[in-house]
Amino acid sequence: MPALHPEFQKASRIDAIEVSEILQIGARATALKQAGRPVIVLGAGEPDFDTPDFIKQAAVDAIWAGETKYTALGGTPQLKQAISAKFQRDHGLAYTAQEIIVSTGAKQVLYNAFMASLEPGDEVIVPAPYWASYVDIIALAGGKPVLVPCGADAGFRMTADQLRAALGPRTRWVLFNSPSNPSGAGYSAADYSPLLEVLLDHPDVWIMADDMYEHIIYDGFDFATPAAVEPRLKSRCLTINGVSKAYAMTGWRIGYAGGPAELIAAMAVIQGQATSCPSSVSQAAAVAALSGPQEFLRDRQRSFQARRDLVVAGLNAIDGIECPTPEGAFYTFASCAGVLGRKTPEGALIATDADFCTYVLEHHDVAIVPGRAFGLSPYFRISYATSEEELREALVRIARAVAQLT
Ligand code: PLP
Repeated sequence: MPALHPEFQKASRIDAIEVSEILQIGARATALKQAGRPVIVLGAGEPDFDTPDFIKQAAVDAIWAGETKYTALGGTPQLKQAISAKFQRDHGLAYTAQEIIVSTGAKQVLYNAFMASLEPGDEVIVPAPYWASYVDIIALAGGKPVLVPCGADAGFRMTADQLRAALGPRTRWVLFNSPSNPSGAGYSAADYSPLLEVLLDHPDVWIMADDMYEHIIYDGFDFATPAAVEPRLKSRCLTINGVSKAYAMTGWRIGYAGGPAELIAAMAVIQGQATSCPSSVSQAAAVAALSGPQEFLRDRQRSFQARRDLVVAGLNAIDGIECPTPEGAFYTFASCAGVLGRKTPEGALIATDADFCTYVLEHHDVAIVPGRAFGLSPYFRISYATSEEELREALVRIARAVAQLT
């Protein structure tokens, strides 16, 4: 007789995808909190600010105006217009409506792009440390991430020599993320130039620029994007952005990209069979975000910069921790190489960045994420999108944790 509840058989395509370490740490932190421990979580990839009122109001107005139905697959004409104006205003980049797609978060933009372009075994060059979702999405699409380790001594940036060495006959894309999650490192136009120079000689290779943290930059960092730095490459660049981080709109799920019409059309085919279109109400809110007043971005930037300075100084004051100063985003990516080999008061060896993060969470109540979750060890990421008060307390605890190692 067949079993009443046969075991679920999952598809092999998800074999390569592991449960994200960030989620695992989040779940453990929640469990500890529920057990009454005063855990501080420095893992979140979202601003602690609220969505500005004028953006919320645009969504409310859209609801009452009846904008509650499916929209055009690749985004409403109004939002595409606002995105086109944004690209022009910020980078002098001209994209027509056919060269723009709006998706349910930048994550879906990436998913569409890789699904629409990768044949099995096609390679994508991904500088490490990287946002963990890149490699999972590439794997889901049948591609192969080619990881290029870019450590703190190189400012977490890939060099032209590294790029040349990573390029091969199967390379389809090179992926840039500036400022970066998790390192906060940014590529200026001068940093990009030698890399783009290399790519001019490789006409089959496309360039993906994830500019998600464009508006969260410090010390006057001059943000740049490849399609604008090297206009001869614009016809093979996909310029990705979104409203999640800059406008504190992670829950609204709107991301977008500008790129050649053929690529955008292929991405729309994938999107059409996944989500049909992004949320109508969220698109109306995104029009307000991109077209409304932008001054508040500077205030938020100042607030993030104060926190960055606090965390960088606090970490560098700890013996064994070294934290470079990030150009943007709201993360620090500090080296914990100096504490490896030490022992906890219980006698456990700290052999890896994961050991260090586990020790800090389990014994000192601060949730931080090991570099290995982002493809580069021995480091750990702190998200400082939280109050200065919490950050100060977290730094005291991390310092105490390290001081107790022998
Ligand atoms: N790109 C980077 C570098 C990110 O850190 C994130 C989110 O954490 C995303 C893209 C995805 O953003 P969303 O899907 O919210 O637009």
